[in-house]
Amino acid sequence: MNRNVFRVRFWGVRGSLPVSGAAFQQYGGNTICIEMRCGDHRLLFDAGSGLMPAGQVLKAEGVSDFNLFFTHCHYDHIIGLPYFPALFDPHASVALWSGHMAGRMSTRQMIGEFMRPPWFPVEPDICRASIGCIDFRSGETLSPYPDVVVRTGSLNHPGGAIGYRVEWNGQAAAVITDTEHTPGILDPAVLNLIQDADLFIYDCTYTDEEMPRHVGYGHSSWQHAIRLAKAAGVKRVAFIHHSPLRTDAELDAIGKSAGQEFPGAFAARDGQVIDL
Ligand SMILES: [Zn+2]
Ligand SMILES: [Zn+2]
Repeated sequence: MNRNVFRVRFWGVRGSLPVSGAAFQQYGGNTICIEMRCGDHRLLFDAGSGLMPAGQVLKAEGVSDFNLFFTHCHYDHIIGLPYFPALFDPHASVALWSGHMAGRMSTRQMIGEFMRPPWFPVEPDICRASIGCIDFRSGETLSPYPDVVVRTGSLNHPGGAIGYRVEWNGQAAAVITDTEHTPGILDPAVLNLIQDADLFIYDCTYTDEEMPRHVGYGHSSWQHAIRLAKAAGVKRVAFIHHSPLRTDAELDAIGKSAGQEFPGAFAARDGQVIDL
């Protein structure tokens, strides 16, 4: 591929719980994992169950240098971490970044708490990769590589979550999950991260009609994604964090309705590739 392309690959777009079965073949059932390829650099966002297929394909592609950013550490965003093949490859290097618990728990503690008995058979010291843990605070601008800028901001989610905006080669993509909106209000922190983005990826767990029954769960709707996208002048908006109950037919219908309101809107699916 052209080395000047900013490419996004969706490895897991399901929220809350992985699903499988006939009703989920088209959009897929893995939980959140998104890859951004900026030239030779690979950034990964979240370690949901989609991280396992991502890791297998990237290994086959010869990639051994990774930066993995956590939005937060609810199970659907970390469950794939112990199954990331790079962690066990002595030739791989993996940098793990988190900021949602700044001052409360470090990235290294978060991984250690999660990967240990009785929840998991072995502890992180079994990993053979060179692993670096990097803590940051929301609002900081990160530089995983000299030519890649990663801006951060706080989202409205129980326990906290971080939204990311990646800028490279004059283009920008933002990952905004998990977050709950207040009806009638466009979150200034979200607008700030997505302004004029080429691709805006957003938590669309619910529809506007379902939102009132789920106040306090920390999620948003596809209709709100479009309101944000229009206000911020983004080019395309990808819906992710699909409810585990949302079937292919329902996501098709959502994508169709959304496309009529905003031509650049679509429901993302596992394995989908978008070049900015
Ligand atoms: Zn989630
Ligand atoms: Zn969450």
